[in-house]
Amino acid sequence: MVNRHEGNSGAAGFPVRTCIYPGCDRPAVPAHPAGGPQPAFCDRDDHNALTAHLERMRRQRG
Ligand SMILES: [Zn+2]
Repeated sequence: MVNRHEGNSGAAGFPVRTCIYPGCDRPAVPAHPAGGPQPAFCDRDDHNALTAHLERMRRQRG
């Protein structure tokens, strides 16, 4: 039996990204309909590249 865990898939077959903020398992916001890359974070205002970086550093220190 093959049981791969490489991310979830939406009903339409599109991969559903999960917010990369440490400890956050909310789905990332969808890509803009007009195009462009899908954001890596969910719709929380405090989840962005900067806060994720700070949280990772904080967790590393324990
Ligand atoms: Zn998040």
